[in-house]
Amino acid sequence: MIKLNRFYIDGAWVAPISATPFPIKNPANITQIGEVMLGSAEDVNRAAAAARRAFDSFSRTPKDARIALLEKLAQVFSDRLEEMAQAITTEMGAPITMSREVQAACGMDHIWAFIDALQQQPERETLPNSDVLIREPIGVCGLICPWNWPINQIVLKAVPALATGSTCILKPSEYTPLSAALFAEFVDEAGYPPGVFNMVFGDGPTVGTALSHHPDVDMMSFTGSTRAGVQVTKDAADTVKRVTLELGGKSPNLIFADADLEAAVSTSVAGCFYNAGQSCDAPTRLLVERSCYDQVLELVAHAGAAQIVEDPAKPGDHIGPLFDEIQYDRVQAMIQVGIDEGARLLVGGLGKPEGLEDGWYARPTIFADVTNEMRIAREEIFGPVLVIIPFDSEAEGIAIANDTDFGLAAYLHTGDIKRAERVADQLRAGTVTINGIGVNYGSPFGGYKQSGNGREGGLFGLEDYQEVKVRPALTRI
Ligand code: NAD
Repeated sequence: MIKLNRFYIDGAWVAPISATPFPIKNPANITQIGEVMLGSAEDVNRAAAAARRAFDSFSRTPKDARIALLEKLAQVFSDRLEEMAQAITTEMGAPITMSREVQAACGMDHIWAFIDALQQQPERETLPNSDVLIREPIGVCGLICPWNWPINQIVLKAVPALATGSTCILKPSEYTPLSAALFAEFVDEAGYPPGVFNMVFGDGPTVGTALSHHPDVDMMSFTGSTRAGVQVTKDAADTVKRVTLELGGKSPNLIFADADLEAAVSTSVAGCFYNAGQSCDAPTRLLVERSCYDQVLELVAHAGAAQIVEDPAKPGDHIGPLFDEIQYDRVQAMIQVGIDEGARLLVGGLGKPEGLEDGWYARPTIFADVTNEMRIAREEIFGPVLVIIPFDSEAEGIAIANDTDFGLAAYLHTGDIKRAERVADQLRAGTVTINGIGVNYGSPFGGYKQSGNGREGGLFGLEDYQEVKVRPALTRI
């Protein structure tokens, strides 16, 4: 049994002041593989004091030295990538090939993109009105992360904090402590000074709330559900912290009749089911031009039925289980909602795939003839569930795409470059993927509307962790 009974505070692994045990489970076979101790507000106090002390000197560390530390961190990450991939597969069920190539590897890619951004960003610049603008680290940052892309999210928060000269306290998801503990080991091995990076395991209502309220924390960066993001914002309001939020999505994916339909369908179905549908930016709402609707449904039915669900420990491009019973129950409940709302079940349905009854596996499920008013079209399901809605004109497709509380990502498929640009310009979302081509590391990632308010990654991701100061240019005094 794995025992995670230490927090990383002030450069050392320390025993919690008070703690409650929480099981670490493998969703592929529903066995308990370990236990993590969840801390208290007192543990947050200790971490905040360490981060505050460390800020005085770390905030004045020259940029070259901060870049050297980040390069060392990327090196350690690369040396220990396999450990990270195994941890992610074990704790949340991402298939091992995906863990190696994306879930774990993206951490390293993000670090290099942050190094590039930091190298490019001037620490001081002269404004067009001749004043001097100076960028400074914001202070002590509270970082709260989800379980679904555990390392991606930790790196997108901890690394810009470290890059800018801020100090931080990470609260990873209580469901994915293995990857978080490894990341803390990487930071330690990279040689960061004590107190610059701290990690306290804990649940949202106890450790998360203590961070949001803490008078010594200057900024909260939160990724997770809209519900918890709203709570963090309210809790942080009394101390007027900066709060950046990366929240949920219900991303539209438009297929126009002039697209390469086979390619569009295979990318769209695979994109929705990737990570067992547990991605905030998954293309879960497929909008199809009516003139190709029947043809697309046929292709989708084939692609959906061909989706392999398998043990995540096996190499391959199959999908694995949902991360936990909670998620399995949520997904089953939403499939039932779709059936009750009268949507046409094209693929999958309730229950587990045959032969996979021992894990939290869901059947890849596709609903056709959905309307945008149905709950399955409006709410984030966070499982391998695709809903398909027809539209009659480009204007109607765009209107349905934008008729959502969210605005994280949008996708479109067309053979007409002018249409691609015209439609992309009108979609209210932070990222637009065109004909399966996405954006690069270093581009800002974040949402419109209830999908959040910050931007993570690259230059914009650094700015979230900085204050700006202006003063007059001096020629003499
Ligand atoms: P969640 O909101 O339940 O938990 C996220 C984190 O918040 C966890 O660490 C949890 O312990 C903590 N938390 C919960 N309540 C809290 C509170 N009151 N105060 C402070 N912290 C609290 O979300 P989840 O189930 O872990 O993750 C799934 C959600 O995350 C989905 O909605 C998904 O779309 C979203 N997500 C968004 C992005 C993005 O970049 N926009 C990326 C990944 C996941």
